[in-house]
Amino acid sequence: MIHHTCFKCGRRIELDPVFVGMELSKLKVKKPKFYKALCPACQSTNKVSIAQMQSELDAVADEIAAKVEEMEKARAEAKAAKRAEAKAKAS
Ligand SMILES: [Zn+2]
Repeated sequence: MIHHTCFKCGRRIELDPVFVGMELSKLKVKKPKFYKALCPACQSTNKVSIAQMQSELDAVADEIAAKVEEMEKARAEAKAAKRAEAKAKAS
């Protein structure tokens, strides 16, 4: 787990590195410098430095890659289903 302390209220936030890696893969930025974590206590957006959690991310890199692949597959399937639906409606 990645630990971060909220800059505003001082609450300790736990971040799942796999989840963070997936979120980062969704960003349009190729090499993001920060991950924006929302504090569950005060809703503040905390900028957590990627460099700071790089070793945690590297440790689960395979798991992240597998999840991202899974996510992209699901997205492609949803797209195909939508297209089929549109086709069915047109005919
Ligand atoms: Zn907070």
